[in-house]
Amino acid sequence: MRHPLVPLCALAGAALLASGCSSGSSPTAEEQQAAASAAAGNAAKDPAEVGADELGQVPVLMYHQLTEKPASVYDRTPADFRAELERLAREKYVPVTARDFQTGRIGIPAGTHPVVLTFDDSTNSQVRLGDDGNPAPDTAIAILAETAKKYPEFKPVATFFVNADAFSATGSAKALTWLKEHGHEVGNHTDRHQNLRSLDQAGATKAIADGQQAIVKAAPGTRVTSLALPFGAMPQESGVAARGTGYRYDGVYLVGANPSVSPYAKDFTPAAIPRIRSAGPKDADAEFGSSRWLDKLAAGKNWYISDGDPKTVAFPRASQDKLAPAFAKRALPY
Ligand SMILES: [Zn+2]
Repeated sequence: MRHPLVPLCALAGAALLASGCSSGSSPTAEEQQAAASAAAGNAAKDPAEVGADELGQVPVLMYHQLTEKPASVYDRTPADFRAELERLAREKYVPVTARDFQTGRIGIPAGTHPVVLTFDDSTNSQVRLGDDGNPAPDTAIAILAETAKKYPEFKPVATFFVNADAFSATGSAKALTWLKEHGHEVGNHTDRHQNLRSLDQAGATKAIADGQQAIVKAAPGTRVTSLALPFGAMPQESGVAARGTGYRYDGVYLVGANPSVSPYAKDFTPAAIPRIRSAGPKDADAEFGSSRWLDKLAAGKNWYISDGDPKTVAFPRASQDKLAPAFAKRALPY
């Protein structure tokens, strides 16, 4: 199912951002190990030497269907997708999952930039396994793996926001288990892609909880900590998106239309994180799309650049007032 074509940043009204949202869950053993190996393999550098700015902006890219014949602005061809990933790799972006991003666990090499790759609607063009158990050609997971092989610093990790009966060609149990085992994150996109704004509080809570249950039933033990709102539509009672009976999310994702601020910045809005639709430079509404935004980030002065040390938050001293108080102890101004 597609999202309406609207500059959806408008949906993230200030009132919606006030809703509470926990970001205090502690890292699992595998996450700690990943952070440690990232740190060991990529020694931290003098922040000034790499121009580190860990209070800069981060693109959270949004993908839907890969198809040879795009039928809407939400579709991209496999070739477009491959070209975009290669551009990201060449421009020193390193993917992190939505979960790691929203909780400030960004363990990437010095001088590189985080990018969050998100996939909505659990279509077969994203995840389909062949008879041999490997990703089928031209699926998103196949192209991610091929890009990482070509550019070893590019980590093939993404967040898949799924509905009930996800990835029907493979079967949700098999597909979600494969994603988990390969370092991807499975997030919730409600069970039937309901427009949460159109439902009452009980209905919105149920749609989210049922989506969560469908994931856990298909792949028991999955920890679901992120939600993408169908159509980018916030429930009327916005706090219901992040927290309700049977679920609790530390990141809630919108549909458009600009980069996110750093999770270490005081302006970070975990209850309404903006995303950027993948789009070519001449596609409809290209100014809200990924090609133009990647141009602007690279040309501007507000781009997240890592210092390679996941324990510190390094930034030019002039940006001190952008820091969220919760990260004051990790701050490394220079
Ligand atoms: Zn959707």
